[in-house]
Amino acid sequence: MAKYKITQLKKDCIGCGACAAVNPDFWEMDEEGLAHLKGSKKVDDNWILEVNTLEAKTSNQEAADVCPVQIIKVEEI
Ligand code: SF4
Repeated sequence: MAKYKITQLKKDCIGCGACAAVNPDFWEMDEEGLAHLKGSKKVDDNWILEVNTLEAKTSNQEAADVCPVQIIKVEEI
């Protein structure tokens, strides 16, 4: 089964809310007004979550596509 890694460079988030608007299953706005990838773990400056369904990959790619500062990445691992 394919696995995918979702990565967010949170320190560059501008808090626009677009990712949470298009993909609320995975994204929420935190108490600081920045996007949080639900269930993700912090590794250095990145927040990372691994998923293993095409639906999760697709919905997070939508979040990546709408991010105006391009800090969300989706890659197959
Ligand atoms: S779309 Fe990008 S800049 Fe906007 S809240 Fe989400 S991660 Fe932050």
